[in-house]
Amino acid sequence: MPLRRYRAETPGRCPLCKHGFDHYQNSSAGDLTECPRCGLLLVVETNEINIPRILRPIGTVEAKDAGFTVMERNQHGLYEKK
Ligand SMILES: [Zn+2]
Repeated sequence: MPLRRYRAETPGRCPLCKHGFDHYQNSSAGDLTECPRCGLLLVVETNEINIPRILRPIGTVEAKDAGFTVMERNQHGLYEKK
């Protein structure tokens, strides 16, 4: 079931849609158009989940600066800090 986030197109006093609410719905069901509590018109908010995308390979220095521990595989198959 997909999760959608809705908020009122023009927020009123309704505690449900004033600041937005999450709604699980069947994928076959259409989007809500009106608030189930007050009847105001709703808009679907865009997905606020931040999904990082790697646009280019990250170098050793950048990874260390970002707080990662960089490991390197040695000739014996063991990993050592770089
Ligand atoms: Zn409402």
